Amino acid sequence: LAICSILFLSFSSQKTQKTVADPIDEKVKELLSKMTLEEKIGQMTQITITALEEKGNPGVLDKNKLKEAIQKYKIGSILNVPNPGAPTTQRWNEILNEILEQTNQTSNKIPIIYGIDAIHGANYTAGSTLFPQQIGMAATWDTELVEECTAISAYETRASSIPWVFSPDLDLPRNPNWSRFWESFGEDTYLSSQMGVAMVKGFQGDNVGNNDRVAACIKHFIGYGSTTTGKDRTPSIIPERILRQYDLPIYKKSIEAGAKSIMISSGEINGVPVHASKKLITDVLKKELGFTGIVVTDWQDIIYLHTRHKVAATMREAVKKSVLAGIDMSMVPDNYTFYEELLALVKDGEVPMSRIDDAVSRILKVKFELDLFITPVTDPKKYPDFASESSAELAYKAASESITLLKNENSILPISKNKKILVTGATANSMKYLNGGWSYTWQGENSDKYAQEKFTILEAFQNKIGKQNVSFAEGVSIEKEIDIEKAVKLASTVDYIILCLGEHNYTETPGDINELKITAPQVKLAKALSKVNKPVILILNEGRPRLINDFEKDMHAVLQSYLPGNEGARAIVDVVYGDVNPSGKLPYNYPRFSNSLQKYNRKYTESLGDSEQNDDAEYQKSYNPQYEFGFGLSYTAFEYKNLSINKEKISKSDELVISVDVKNVGDLKGKEVVQLYITDVYASITPEVKSLKRFTKIELSPGETKTVKFTITKDDLGFVNEDNNWVVEEGDFEIMINNFKKKFAFE
Ligand code: BGC
Repeated sequence: LAICSILFLSFSSQKTQKTVADPIDEKVKELLSKMTLEEKIGQMTQITITALEEKGNPGVLDKNKLKEAIQKYKIGSILNVPNPGAPTTQRWNEILNEILEQTNQTSNKIPIIYGIDAIHGANYTAGSTLFPQQIGMAATWDTELVEECTAISAYETRASSIPWVFSPDLDLPRNPNWSRFWESFGEDTYLSSQMGVAMVKGFQGDNVGNNDRVAACIKHFIGYGSTTTGKDRTPSIIPERILRQYDLPIYKKSIEAGAKSIMISSGEINGVPVHASKKLITDVLKKELGFTGIVVTDWQDIIYLHTRHKVAATMREAVKKSVLAGIDMSMVPDNYTFYEELLALVKDGEVPMSRIDDAVSRILKVKFELDLFITPVTDPKKYPDFASESSAELAYKAASESITLLKNENSILPISKNKKILVTGATANSMKYLNGGWSYTWQGENSDKYAQEKFTILEAFQNKIGKQNVSFAEGVSIEKEIDIEKAVKLASTVDYIILCLGEHNYTETPGDINELKITAPQVKLAKALSKVNKPVILILNEGRPRLINDFEKDMHAVLQSYLPGNEGARAIVDVVYGDVNPSGKLPYNYPRFSNSLQKYNRKYTESLGDSEQNDDAEYQKSYNPQYEFGFGLSYTAFEYKNLSINKEKISKSDELVISVDVKNVGDLKGKEVVQLYITDVYASITPEVKSLKRFTKIELSPGETKTVKFTITKDDLGFVNEDNNWVVEEGDFEIMINNFKKKFAFE
């Protein structure tokens, strides 16, 4: 039994970033001393590029509007992609140069910091490499690979003359309905923390000033992914204890890794919009976590304090609240109210100059670190590896490692290449369903236009086994029945049915749903095909786990491909034929029922109440995900043996070394993700059944054994107690790897 508890205030005791003056701090001070109040407030203002376009002339910048923004309002930042989307690197360079021409005419010639949502590659640049979306990256469970891919995203973003990205997304979704579920790393704090750090490192490298790296912006601080309804930007209710235990550590790790900026959540927590929360932004983020980078708002979120959240009766009050809460830059994004109001507030003494200087110093610092004063615009010609073949191969590799084999009845997969197949389903023949949102445009509707040379799933199958062996009938779209009968007819003429189901491309509010079940026409197609008496291989292209329980039992194999990006179809096909041995693992619980959305790290009581109101045994179980977090099959088999620990008791200064042998006992080379979970046997706060603490991905040849070692310390045993402090309680703990367990005690 847990008796005495040892308190450790991990958040308040460590300042995580350098506070001593360095040459950049000196430069910032010097520049700041030369700036007028107007220039300072301008630096805090971020405008969208589309507001600077010529009327009726999409993509063309209006000289006067640009001049007004930069010379009159002295804005410090611009964001987003011009209409109609996806300029070439050359066009981006022209745009950035047009902007530079204007900043060069201001007294201090402070360069603009241009920010963009490059979240899975330089996805707003024509021809760029598009990687799997974050949820797929999490499913690789390979942080090195994720870092490598992100470095390519950084390089291609810099090739587009842009130095700042609004990524990674560190939200922890609590409801799989959430329309931005796929922008996250899934439901687990530890996995998300590790992946977040990998992306921050990939974006920023050791030196963001190197012109092949960019400043990262971790988002959306904090609790954005936890809306009760799962709908975007609706309220979250998160007790501080929960926020500190599950959400905050993800940010803390990325801040320790040096993330240069952070974006605030558009949502409210417990009735307080985060943009108005001094407690969260100043007290927790800036003071407790020691964050020294830029705090930027999300889209129009200061305005929304007034118009949506109704916590500010006027715009002036909204600006005052948010700047005093600790906002450094306002993503306005298409007018100058923020600038005007803030200027008046400072002049009237309602916002102190020290707050403005703090904000502007943070912005200037990142501009110096990015070397923007020396190289304000990078030259695409200096990026010969933009969209190189090797980058496409890396994207293919990431997709291959993410695809998760969820079911493989009688080892039906892999199939042989000399069989005839039917490819069918809503997502079979469009790039949109592979890329999802934030691809060329916000909602990603134009992937087919911009990625013409890339392959849809249908095309990838045709390339693999020849058109003559592949029949095709769409069957249904996401919303409508099209030719189910044709699909059924063709199905009877082939050896295998490849059924591609999933979701529309979407993000944010347009991605909200009222029903987590996969859409009705798709269910209908699946049911119709399952009657054909041919093996059905289901491929899921989806950003969140849409329920498939209605027909899953009739599917012979299920492959989760998430949103695998431009090279995703090749990877899917190679998994189907065994040229890739699948190794992805689910980064979330795939729910079976809409009212059973438990996470894997549930509490014991979440398995209570098994009901007998239904004959279906599956239905009766309370905790019964369709597939569990961490799950994913391989074409080979792994055997775990000799789980051992170096001590049966550890104290606060000890390390516990855990070792396990993993053997490939099948016939194929394969990768396995070794996952270590810990259970606090008894605790003063109801313990989780298990929680992930370490993982590693290893590759094993047939017959090969590797010994995997993990080290943990007391810090891995803690939780946040009733008083909102991190504690480790003395008592018994259990280590779990695969199906093996070992007990140890913390004293
Ligand atoms: C999204 C952010 C994004 C920003 C800029 C907002 O609507 O919530 O994630 O970075 O727009 O495009």
